[in-house]
Amino acid sequence: METEELEFAPRVISPEVTQDDGDIEISLRPQNLHEYIGQDKVKEKIAIYIEAAKKRGEPLDHVLLYGPPGLGKTTLSSIIAHELGVNLRVTTGPAIEKPGDLVSLLTSLNDNDVLFIDEIHRLSRAVEEILYPALEDRVIDIIIGKGPSARSIRMDLKPFTLIGATTRAGQLSAPLRDRFGVIERLELYTTEQLTDIIRRSAMILCIPCDTDGAAEIAGRARGTPRIANRLLKRVRDFADVMGNGQITKEIASIALSRLEIDNLGLDSLDRRMLQMIIKGYGGGPVGLETLASAIGEESVTLEDICEPFLMQLGFLGRTPRGRVATRLAYEHLGIVPPEQSTSGSDDGQLSF
Ligand code: ADP
Repeated sequence: METEELEFAPRVISPEVTQDDGDIEISLRPQNLHEYIGQDKVKEKIAIYIEAAKKRGEPLDHVLLYGPPGLGKTTLSSIIAHELGVNLRVTTGPAIEKPGDLVSLLTSLNDNDVLFIDEIHRLSRAVEEILYPALEDRVIDIIIGKGPSARSIRMDLKPFTLIGATTRAGQLSAPLRDRFGVIERLELYTTEQLTDIIRRSAMILCIPCDTDGAAEIAGRARGTPRIANRLLKRVRDFADVMGNGQITKEIASIALSRLEIDNLGLDSLDRRMLQMIIKGYGGGPVGLETLASAIGEESVTLEDICEPFLMQLGFLGRTPRGRVATRLAYEHLGIVPPEQSTSGSDDGQLSF
């Protein structure tokens, strides 16, 4: 039973797409900027760029969207294409294996179409090099033949917009980053915004859910719409079995506790990580790899899923010598913090 729960819990709060999200995620995707909740500053700017591009009859400038998974980068891209009234082609960095794959994608686009490349930081160098002239001058250079008789042919492309999305903007090469005219970071959502997203999703999925119930789920969704929608579906199961199908604050609270998601949105893996730092390593610092093997998890899971959220809550600090738990983390877990806090920066510790 315990193993089952431990495997289940991280999946519920993972911001990455899971098989379970499936078609429902598509049906919940807002279709236009008005339906897209939050990210107001980004939305405002994008709306102006879209209008200007339409007025001039030109493609929108190339756009780079970055931020943690599940915040709406793919959704925003499809909205941009929809608002521009053009086609959207969707692919991912790892799916474009060879330069030829990208050439055939680029040459199949119609005037002003949008090409969306998710995880663009994972493009290979050879593929990236095809992209540079395509983005800058709307041309591609194709090598025909091999050896001494090989020659390069330049081909014109139709005007198009590339929208790149990445969770790791730092891993993008500088030449690629420089070719985007618009670079926007998506932020974690507030509880109020997530409440609106959950209410909208509940309406689409015909799930009776009152505002307090939605707010209860929103407060534990780690600022991420994908997690909010997933929790809504899980809580619905509890509402159907334990009540009359209506999601109320009480039902949501019971369901989320059963899913081991606490009042701040921490799940069992977050807690195990903090507890290991505190009880196993005296509050840290402890290296990520050591920590990961101590709790039997992949270090990338800790780094990509747990850490951003725990750091945002102020529960975890990163130092050159490893991770440290803060006083807030001790308090949240109900553990008495050590009397004497260390304040030096040389020894790699954070002060509480
Ligand atoms: P990303 O590409 O950043 O991983 P997605 O665009 O796939 O994230 O968004 C995940 C899900 O969250 C979407 O299916 C959509 O239903 C929901 N979503 C994301 N952003 C919003 C938003 N601003 N308003 C409403 N729903 C959203």
